Amino acid sequence: MSIASNIQQLKSGIPAHVTLVAVSKTKPVEAIREAYDAGQRVFGENKVQEMADKYEQLPKDIEWHLIGHLQTNKVKYIAPFVHLIHSIDSVKLLQEINKQAKKNDRVIDCLLQVHIAKEETKFGMDFEEVNALLGSEELRSFENVSIRGLMGMATFTEDETTIHNEFRSLSQFFKQKKNEIRTAQFDILSMGMSGDYRIAIEEGSTMIRVGSSIFGAR
Ligand SMILES: *Cc1c(COP(=O)(O)O)cnc(C)c1O
Repeated sequence: MSIASNIQQLKSGIPAHVTLVAVSKTKPVEAIREAYDAGQRVFGENKVQEMADKYEQLPKDIEWHLIGHLQTNKVKYIAPFVHLIHSIDSVKLLQEINKQAKKNDRVIDCLLQVHIAKEETKFGMDFEEVNALLGSEELRSFENVSIRGLMGMATFTEDETTIHNEFRSLSQFFKQKKNEIRTAQFDILSMGMSGDYRIAIEEGSTMIRVGSSIFGAR
């Protein structure tokens, strides 16, 4: 199967309100160009340097999403162009994003990464930490960041019940926060990858991040 037909097949199988982020990490610019020529404009990368390099080489109407862990000292490299950062896990990181966004005269959209999986290794905050962050005075002073929603990853398992339960808990939490935060635009729930995006959509995902089902195994 070609990249173009993989994208077409994926798009025809997901509802129109769900955004497809094509995760192109480790893949060459030629592969991204193929997806671009098939109409795909939203791409996800997990490394700052790789994303910045690809941004330089590819058409400027691509929306670049950072989906991997972000260190504060690297924010400056993506601040001029990043469209959405999915991996916010601290106020300190938001503070730096706010600073760099201001320098670039932009408002940068961000998602808070929530830890919902059983694995220890996955990044993100728990529900209480997210509550604390959303309620903090400091957040309100960040004029150049916009918290647009939440991101989460389910446990890597064959057990679909576990995946359903984890995505459902995040989805319920998202709806609750959406009701509380009436002033800002809070409308993105990023959940679902190649192996579990169908379940994620059933549980209310509005944005899926799919790599290997489009570009092949890494
Ligand atoms: C790599 C990655 C994906 C895509 O994974 P696939 O299984 O290849 O679809 C999605 N989200 C994050 C955070 C990733 O790091």
